Amino acid sequence: PKLELSLIPSFKPLCSTRVPSLLPSNPTTQPHDHHFVSRTFHSLNTLKPYVYSQRSSILLGWLCSLISVYTLSRIVPNVGKVSTFIGKFDALTFRNEGSVLAVLVLARLVACYWQQAFLWDAALSAAYEIRVQVFKRLLERDLGFFEGSGGVSAGDIAYRITAEASDVADTVYALLNTIIPSALQLTAMGVQMLAISPVLSLISAMVIPFVALANGYLGEKLRKISKDANLTIAAVSSYLNEILPAILFVKANNAELCENARFQRLAHADRSKRLKKKKMKALIPQIIQILYFGAFSVFCMASLAISSGSFDGGGMVSFLTSLVFLIEPIQGVGKAYNELKEGEPAIERLFSLTRFRSKVVEKQDAVDFKHVTGEVQFCDISFKYEDNMPLVLNELNLHIKAGETVALVGPSGGGKTTLAKLLLRLYDPLCGRIFIDNHNIQCIRLESLRRHVGLVSQDITLFSGTVAENIGYRDLMKNIDMERVEDAARTANADEFIRKLPEGYKTNIGPRGSMLSGGQKQRLAIARALYQNSSVLILDEATSALDARSELLVRQAVERLMENHTVLVIAHRLETVRMAKRVFLVDDGRLEELAPSTFFSEPAIRGSNLEVAVALRSVFRRSEF
Ligand code: ADP
Ligand code: MG
Repeated sequence: PKLELSLIPSFKPLCSTRVPSLLPSNPTTQPHDHHFVSRTFHSLNTLKPYVYSQRSSILLGWLCSLISVYTLSRIVPNVGKVSTFIGKFDALTFRNEGSVLAVLVLARLVACYWQQAFLWDAALSAAYEIRVQVFKRLLERDLGFFEGSGGVSAGDIAYRITAEASDVADTVYALLNTIIPSALQLTAMGVQMLAISPVLSLISAMVIPFVALANGYLGEKLRKISKDANLTIAAVSSYLNEILPAILFVKANNAELCENARFQRLAHADRSKRLKKKKMKALIPQIIQILYFGAFSVFCMASLAISSGSFDGGGMVSFLTSLVFLIEPIQGVGKAYNELKEGEPAIERLFSLTRFRSKVVEKQDAVDFKHVTGEVQFCDISFKYEDNMPLVLNELNLHIKAGETVALVGPSGGGKTTLAKLLLRLYDPLCGRIFIDNHNIQCIRLESLRRHVGLVSQDITLFSGTVAENIGYRDLMKNIDMERVEDAARTANADEFIRKLPEGYKTNIGPRGSMLSGGQKQRLAIARALYQNSSVLILDEATSALDARSELLVRQAVERLMENHTVLVIAHRLETVRMAKRVFLVDDGRLEELAPSTFFSEPAIRGSNLEVAVALRSVFRRSEF
């Protein structure tokens, strides 16, 4: 099939190969479509607690705005006075009035500056609190939110917490900076107009509902476009987040052109949406210009009134001046409204990260482990990741005695890693129970459970930071015990290579540990699990990237550990499995104990890769029948 780039009509594909099935779909799903007034209200309500907590800065900012409006109202008549003195040149009065004017102007400048400073302080502090809260809630979310087919990509989340939180700050600022000053000016001018001519005031006021309606309608459109634009830029961010760490893979596959095409497509989609948004933002103020035409018609009517003698010229000048100063805050309100409409999708998306109900919950009366010997029992465990998917584990039973080492083998996709995730309560089983030392793990505090179960995961996770920080990750907030770090590294056979690094344990290993080899990364990951000193240790294919020599040393290390740990080794290599007392085959969600003696004695599979071995074995088994 041809490269399908429907989003960009004029786009010429840069490569002839088929790519775009990898392209993120354009997610324009609209959630429940509230009425726009209630949605605006909802957004404001969401922000309320965060803005309220900044009330002291906000009040100070508004106080400054009051001062600046007050000084303005003093400056205007003062300018007139000073100008009349210029002709007569009474030096003393001129100097007096002049210095009053100078003080007023200076006071206004200072007040204006502090108004903005205080209000930005409030807006950015509110956004900071929102960010922190969103991130905190994000970390509390179930693992299932991040992985699987419905998982939200890291790039998308990163975009929400960086750019969209900044958008929220802009919105909050615009609202704070408009509400009080505009309201002050609106009331002041409206009162003045009413006092001069109630009839003309009413006539002028008639234009306002139309402008407000038009603005409301366009504002709603702006919200929708902004939402699309946020999604397209989030797609760019997700894409970059996925592709940049995989740059080696891209180059090795000669995929630069193809990636260029994918990037161009995403970037172009964003350009189009953003342009639409900018156009809408340009259109909205023009609608407010209609007010000026309204003012013009009032001007014509006022001239009529003057010529008929029912209105004097001075009155008209004051009235029209008030009208002009009335339009200004209305424009301000319009602008703030737009800013709110533009920020609404950001508010929605950002806070949607915090609205969830965990599936894995800690019970109210959950307790800490006191002393753990490390007996582990899986009882009739059934599990599937998503409702519409088949069972990954099917009534599985496994009993591991304290201090025992057990190996899980089997084809990939059989459910071995899933078993480890269940033991850590990253997911809860559909049915069945898991016990550690006869405690149902659902009755144990999560923190305590995860302290006593150590995991070396299949996908090694290292952070940019020093070697010591990576090994002592658990104690990052406390003090990392260097002695234990070195012990753990020695046991994991990592000490030797660490000492050869430029700064030893203080060497920064780069993003995702990129300056280390696969085997080195694995040994660091093992050292990290050892540092934790948990009673139950899961090694999920932890030795797959080690060379034969390192693996032997790690195996010896694990053998040493086996003395006082319960070890669950998940492996696909025979050598790794051999140290286990018992070996279980996990296949198709079921568990079957293999008798090691018979299993390993098959001459054909001796020393081979375990996956091959399992395949061969099933051939043997079938041939027996
Ligand atoms: P392995 O035995 O290779 O460790 P896993 O336990 O990782 O196998 O996976 C078991 C099955 O569950 C596989 O079929 C896999 O596709 C599926 N699976 C794993 N993680 C998820 C997930 N987050 N969402 C949906 N399915 C998953
Ligand atoms: Mg696995």
